Amino acid sequence: MQALMQGKRGLIMGVANNHSLAWGIAKTLSAHGAELAFTYQGDALGKRVKPLAQSLNAELVLPCDVEDLGSVDAVFATLKEKWGGLDFVVHAIGFSDKNELKGRYADTTRENFSRTMVISCFSFTEIAKRAAELMPPTGGSMITLTYGGSTRVMPNYNVMGVAKAALEASTRYLASDYGPRNIRVNAISAGPVRTLAGAGIADARIMFNYQLRHAPLRRTVSIEDVGGSALYLLSDLSNGVTGEVHFVDSGYNIISMPEPDALKT
Ligand code: NAD
Repeated sequence: MQALMQGKRGLIMGVANNHSLAWGIAKTLSAHGAELAFTYQGDALGKRVKPLAQSLNAELVLPCDVEDLGSVDAVFATLKEKWGGLDFVVHAIGFSDKNELKGRYADTTRENFSRTMVISCFSFTEIAKRAAELMPPTGGSMITLTYGGSTRVMPNYNVMGVAKAALEASTRYLASDYGPRNIRVNAISAGPVRTLAGAGIADARIMFNYQLRHAPLRRTVSIEDVGGSALYLLSDLSNGVTGEVHFVDSGYNIISMPEPDALKT
């Protein structure tokens, strides 16, 4: 099993703590032999991320705020210097003002719309470009994290849903741009997981419990579930797959309405 990621080096962006989706992905990749580098946003999160990274024997743990393009460039300059190349990237970064993750989408401000789009969507394009430059002629793989609020209206998800729609479209365009170099670009659409970012959405607990009751598998997903699918998308197992949005949501996305019995209770 270890051979799946043996000899592959990758960058994990978006660990905030041990509940982060990116952490579930990192643990799984490491268990299958990958060598990992991590980024963290700011010193406060760095204190949490550094020991986690060290527990997976990561030597490169670098600061990066995607609003500061200089810090993004610095990460890739370090990777070039220390590793000379890169096989995969995990982009698990999202942000919006939590005052606008409640109420109506119609009330989104221009300032928060722009900020949400840059951090949650365009950063993937900027990172993909820099990562692709480091990937070998044999190719590479990149993933980002999205949510079903991109195509269907979820209460309070608002501008994040619009940003995720753009992120999914970016995934397809990037897959087309980099496909000729055998660099694959995919997205995982995860069901709700209790994380720092997830807690910023109003009534997150209600949405979590709703999916738990009504998803076909009758459970929510774990960060390890997301890690398993990431392993598939980042390893050679998915060599023929690019531009996909892969749902890891206990099947919730296929449901139009709950079972009638569930509505009677
Ligand atoms: P999290 O809070 O653990 O991770 C979010 C990460 O984004 C943090 O590490 C944070 O530092 C980073 N980030 C935010 N702004 C940044 C910036 N300016 N520069 C650099 N990093 C920045 O929460 P998570 O739920 O693991 O989120 C990871 C991704 O998964 C996000 O894109 C999120 O939208 C997506 N997602 C989450 C869920 C869920 O229910 N938790 C479901 C589907 C998709």
